Amino acid sequence: MGSALNIGKLFGIQLRLHYTWFIIFVFLTVLLVSPHWLSPLWWITGIITCLLFFASVIAHELAHSLVGRANGIPIKSITLFIFGGVAQMTREATRPIAEFKMAAAGPICSLVIGCLFGLLWLFTPITIEPIAIMVQWLAFINVALAIFNFIPGFPLDGGRVFRSLLWHFTGNYQRSTLIATQVGRVVGYLFILGGILIAFLRPFGMSWFNGLWLVFIGWFLENAASASYRQSQFRETLHRFTASQVMTSDYPVVPSDITISRLVQEYVLVSGRHFLLVADEGQLKGIVTLHNIKTIPQGNWGVTQVKEIMIPINKLKVAYPDQDALSILEQMDDDDMNQMPVVSEGRVIGLIARDNLIRFLRIRSESGI
Ligand SMILES: [Zn+2]
Repeated sequence: MGSALNIGKLFGIQLRLHYTWFIIFVFLTVLLVSPHWLSPLWWITGIITCLLFFASVIAHELAHSLVGRANGIPIKSITLFIFGGVAQMTREATRPIAEFKMAAAGPICSLVIGCLFGLLWLFTPITIEPIAIMVQWLAFINVALAIFNFIPGFPLDGGRVFRSLLWHFTGNYQRSTLIATQVGRVVGYLFILGGILIAFLRPFGMSWFNGLWLVFIGWFLENAASASYRQSQFRETLHRFTASQVMTSDYPVVPSDITISRLVQEYVLVSGRHFLLVADEGQLKGIVTLHNIKTIPQGNWGVTQVKEIMIPINKLKVAYPDQDALSILEQMDDDDMNQMPVVSEGRVIGLIARDNLIRFLRIRSESGI
């Protein structure tokens, strides 16, 4: 998810605000304050309530993240956006029990928060009107969030719980993902259908806007379920291949003792690559990127050698020929890398680039292999 603002870290996890979050923040605040437009007390309580709501959403995502991390699933960031929050993990669970605990942690956290606000509401004197109403709203919205997330359509939390159970009982991850994501798509379509009905029939005093909102949520869920299905298919396919099957042998190699001037003229400008392997007689010494070149002033390019600016092999992650391609992709995700050299007994035998992996799978599926 692009265009997000970093707002700090919690337990080592980056918190981010997507630009669409500001829309929902303003919208919810206005909804909470209406129709008391002229009362500063309502505005202040409205804004605080909205902030508390998003703190609850962060707590929900944090519950997923911390339980995930304790079960060996690293979490990079939590992003708040128009439909709530999302925790970005760099890999999927490898055991159903880990996925079950991680998925259930979020809605359970929301349920607990909802009950706490419910208790607080019982003890709030009804005379302090905006506060009592807002505490009640916080209790309601958190319980609603928990219930909504327990709907068993992937990628909602309930869908993940559902998949982990299927996976546990069938032992087949791919088949379980297929079923859970297809249920997720059905849930998405039901939301769209329900939204359209509400928009036209307006039952229980609901407005056309409630219906429209439901249509949007359904559309979002259907898209996310389809994307999750495609992605898990992609990962499952990668899992069946090794580094030596997906690597490319088309990559430029430069010797470590040439100057940067020669590197730029004879390799970078000719090949147009941003990333070159450094090897002497086949032995991998490191990698050099445009970024490394830029750290040296142009005047010194004639007297500086590649080995002085390269990232040396001992600081480099490399792949091995029989390593499975999925674990390489996960390693690249963990370290924010786009390429990884494949090394056998110290010698470079290939290169794996992220776009190569995607091209490899596309050609494979197009040719029906
Ligand atoms: Zn959740």
